[in-house]
Order: sequence, then structure tokens, then C-alpha cells
Amino acid sequence: MGAEAQHCPTANGLIKTGSRALSGSYIPLDTFVLEPEEVAGLQQQCQVSVEELMQLLVQPASLLARAPTSKFPVGAIGLGVSGRLYAGVNLEFPGLPLQHSVHAEQFLIASAAWHGERGLRRIAVNAAPCGHCRQFIAELVTADTIELAYKGSTYRLDDILVDKFCPSDLIEPGTAPLLLEQQSNGVRFTPAAEELLRQCPDLQEAASQALLSAQESYTPYTRCPAGMGLITQDGSVYGGGVIESCAYNPTINPLQAACITLAAKGRGPFSEVKEAVLAELQAESVSYAETCRIALNAINPDIHLTVLHIQLK
Ligand SMILES: [Zn+2]
Repeated sequence: MGAEAQHCPTANGLIKTGSRALSGSYIPLDTFVLEPEEVAGLQQQCQVSVEELMQLLVQPASLLARAPTSKFPVGAIGLGVSGRLYAGVNLEFPGLPLQHSVHAEQFLIASAAWHGERGLRRIAVNAAPCGHCRQFIAELVTADTIELAYKGSTYRLDDILVDKFCPSDLIEPGTAPLLLEQQSNGVRFTPAAEELLRQCPDLQEAASQALLSAQESYTPYTRCPAGMGLITQDGSVYGGGVIESCAYNPTINPLQAACITLAAKGRGPFSEVKEAVLAELQAESVSYAETCRIALNAINPDIHLTVLHIQLK
């Protein structure tokens, strides 16, 4: 790559890549996913490897962060085994404790899970991954092989998380699918929940999304699947399910997961949400209802939360 100014187009404008001005295509980075053919087209256009392209996209991705508290925008780009690229950014929620925040690496992993990606080969990020994210990445089915690129170097997870606490410390290897493997929690609504839904047809789509998200949620440690469906003012619905961590605290709760889906669709502020539907097991050791109620109230006090109970089939 030459020394003069070269540009590679992105949704956020032009990024300098080297020596040649590249006119042309709009890169829909604001959808937070690039299909393999788009990735190949960009590589061709910019004359870069996929690893170099990921590095080029990290900074533009960070411009999509929602970090009103820290004002520290983080952008991450992940390469899936499918050849797709996923973008992730940090999300912060004013008025809530800091642990409600979503980190960029978690965002992209949740987004990859949402798209049915079956593994990640590499993550590039514009800042060193925090300990919390290193721990979260340890859940991935590709944790042993994933490459982590930041500050000009590339590492394996074991290099930067020595003697890691990992899924096999809590569950027998092979007894549950790892993160990004197919999940099938086999849950359905209780008869009481189905009856409630018959009386509230407006919630049907969000409830379906919450149930689907619960079925696909990653809960090998508690066996407490849960999912959330959010309805925005214009009637659009966004879902997300729990992604647990063996270290518990880095766990993504269903509201965070649904907010990731909403943000990844390029939607406006979270205060656009008007209704929320949570699907979770009844009277289990883990419940998300109250913490989600508090968080939703901080996002917009007018959001109404409906909790629908689910049961194992
Ligand atoms: Zn982090």
C-alpha cells in the first residue's frame, strides 16, 4: 500500500487506507453486518486482506457507539466462519448502574448469534479488550482458535487471558452446546401466558419474538432461558435472548440483547420503545423481570412491560 492518501468508502464517510482514491459504493456499516460478497467487493476495491479490511472498519464502526456516559466510543469488527463481518459498539444507558452497559465485543457476538453465525474467527477492536470481554469471548465455540487484534498486534485468547476460567470449569464438556453453536432450549408458553396473549393480540408479535429468543438463548449454567421482545412507536419488533457467561457477571440479559438488535438495525434512541415483553421461566433461581423493569423505567417511564411465563416442553 502506497504512502499517499487512499480512501475506502464507508457509511460514515471516507477512511484513509493508503494511496488511491476509491470512489463508489456505499458500505452499509450501519446495518452492523456485511455479507461475504460485500466483504470480497471491499477487499477488491481497497486491495486489502480481510484482516486489513477489518482494521480499516474498526474506527468507522466506533462512530456508531452510544456512549453518552463514558464518551469513550469502542468499535469492534468480527469475522464469522460464514465469511460475514459483524460490527459491534458499546451501548450505555444514562441513569442506570454501569453494569447495564454493553461492550462492543459483546454487541458483535450477540449480533452474530442473532444472525445464526456458527463461530467467529477473528475480532479486531480499537482498544484493548477489557477483562470482562476476554471472559465473555471464552464462551465462544471458537475460543481456542479466535484471533484478537488490537493496538497493532494479534493474540490468541489464551495469550491475554492466562489460566482462564472457562465453560468446562462448570459443565462437563460436550454436555451442552457452546456459544454460537445451535441452541434449542425447547420452551413454550404456559397455558396462563397463552390465555393472556389471547386477550392482548397487540403483543403477539413481540411475544413470538421473546419466545424464539428464549428458545435460542445461551443458558448452559442456569438452564433458565429467557427472551425479550421490544415494540417501538412505529410498531417494529426487536428480540434478544440471554447469553450467559460461566463467570456470571459478563452475562447479557434479555433486555440488553434486544437493545443490541434494535441498535444493530440502526434504530434511534431506546426511548422509542413503547412496549416490552419478557418470556422467562416461572419461579426459577434466575429472574430478569425486576431488573428489566427498572432498566426500562430509566430508558422511558412510559414503557409497559409484560412478563409471560414459559415452561420446558
Ligand atoms: Zn469490554
